Amino acid sequence: MRTPRNKGAGAEAVMNDAMQQFREILHERSLRVTNVREAIVRAALSRDDHFRVEGLVEDVSRDGLEVSVATVYRAIPLLVDAGLIEPAEVSGEKRFYEASFGREHHDHLICQRCHTVVEFQFDAFAMLERELAVKYDFELTGHFHELIGVCGNCRRKKGANGVH
Ligand SMILES: [Zn+2]
Ligand SMILES: [Zn+2]
Repeated sequence: MRTPRNKGAGAEAVMNDAMQQFREILHERSLRVTNVREAIVRAALSRDDHFRVEGLVEDVSRDGLEVSVATVYRAIPLLVDAGLIEPAEVSGEKRFYEASFGREHHDHLICQRCHTVVEFQFDAFAMLERELAVKYDFELTGHFHELIGVCGNCRRKKGANGVH
């Protein structure tokens, strides 16, 4: 359900910009630029879906690098702070992430039966947020909009409990 990421030269430029931003975060925190850290960035930005940390571990390993789950978990906040990825689904037991660098922000509708995820943008949310922030004297730094429900397919399936 995600808009496909651009492939080709454009994608490469985005990757370079993202990597630059990541190196700056590492530099700020006196952390080294390592092959593994860069491989994690490339793997994360190559994903077009909502992924779990374990998925990234598999991607990096497939490229022939040895990486532990712990290493990837530790790298995740760096990627988030560098603006490369953001948490995509936070309401379930497992957290999902998605590549956000060079993409427009969006929110999610999630089907609790089949786990279909619909991405949407809705400007009115942004207006409401600003209003709430003023009302409660908050400076907003982010938000998670996750609407949970049952998708049309699941509701129309025979034997689905209830609504007929
Ligand atoms: Zn998304
Ligand atoms: Zn569904």
